Amino acid sequence: MTANAASPNAGHLHAVGDPEGLARCPIMPTYGPPSVEFVRGEGSYLFDRDGKRYVDWLAGIAVTSLGHSHPGVAEAIAKQATTLLHVSNLFATEHQAPIATALDRMIGDGEPAGGQVFFANSGAEANEAALKLARRYGGHGRHVVVSAFQSFHGRTMSTLAATGQPAKWEVFQPLPEGFRHVAWADLDELEKALDETVAAVFLEPVQGEGGVNAATIEYFEGVRRLCDERDILFMVDEVQAGLGRTGKWFGFQHFLSGDARPDVITMAKALGNGMPIGACWAKASAAAAFKPGDHATTFGGQPMATSAARATLEIMEAIDAPAMAAAKAAELTDALMAIDGVVSTRGLGLLMAAELSGVDGRVVAARCLQEGLVLNGITETAVRLTPAITIDSDAIAEGAQILASVIAAVRDES
Ligand SMILES: *Cc1c(COP(=O)(O)O)cnc(C)c1O
Repeated sequence: MTANAASPNAGHLHAVGDPEGLARCPIMPTYGPPSVEFVRGEGSYLFDRDGKRYVDWLAGIAVTSLGHSHPGVAEAIAKQATTLLHVSNLFATEHQAPIATALDRMIGDGEPAGGQVFFANSGAEANEAALKLARRYGGHGRHVVVSAFQSFHGRTMSTLAATGQPAKWEVFQPLPEGFRHVAWADLDELEKALDETVAAVFLEPVQGEGGVNAATIEYFEGVRRLCDERDILFMVDEVQAGLGRTGKWFGFQHFLSGDARPDVITMAKALGNGMPIGACWAKASAAAAFKPGDHATTFGGQPMATSAARATLEIMEAIDAPAMAAAKAAELTDALMAIDGVVSTRGLGLLMAAELSGVDGRVVAARCLQEGLVLNGITETAVRLTPAITIDSDAIAEGAQILASVIAAVRDES
């Protein structure tokens, strides 16, 4: 191994776990160098190698919605580990059907929604399934997927093509063709983009990575109508917003009511409370476009991941996670608005951004980490908060205290 000083990787040293700081980091530099190594988590708290405790307002970016090391999920995983880890999807395993049925009921707001589920390992893979389903449903010549600028749908080649952030495309060109982008929340522009080559419209209910921008009733009802008129699939990416976080089981449920719902819904992050699992739900008439052999996965839906997902969904239903998220969001909003330097909050439920004045969100996030609060700088003026739905009042108050003192300190220094 040669250390080339001119390489962009030079200096990307693994400071954590390498006290001498001499060895080259064995991890590819797709993320910036990490400044903390976490070794343990419990509820809304994390602990680093030195035993220092952190309040976690990020939850793995909307992943560990039931908190770290939830005993119910841990027990299900431990039991499954000594029962059956994996067989091929050529065979049935015990957890897939109950999870698919539970998701279908959540999507139908308590009643069966009449859809079917494909299990994947991640958000991007759930979205890949949706994109392939759109092509299969539309057929040759009717394959275009329209998504929004500032959206985020994943990092694989086609989910990157669907992602409406041109700066992320540039170095990977040429990307797969058949993707078109329109301004977020602009129905007129969307309508103009819907020619006879379009198979699907693909939107987030709240743009998470794009700055935490929620859709509106008018927008989603309009998209539903435009898609119905043209037999185009309305596909919703609930990877970040789904599963209780916004105060409803799925984000779209804030904007569509009655029998109006998307045709395809993808989810992942919170589904396994930290175990990697994703899912793509589609109404049965759309799902029928897939024939045996069209799509597959080795690991997707395997017993280990689905044991965690099954326990996660059972616990979420038992605690009424959507209602809990709405209550905690109100409490967190009050705590944030009481901080000098927080001018507003936005988002839906516990998928939230706090707009700051006079300080850079990314600088604040980095300083908060040093002071023992985990959150995410999302723009130059805002931080993103996606804490566990089970976060308690102590972890809200403690985090707010740290954030307030960091904002004050950063302001003083500038
Ligand atoms: C995180 C995210 C993805 C990608 O999920 P991965 O599991 O990282 O592949 C896709 N869509 C949205 C809205 C996300 O927030």
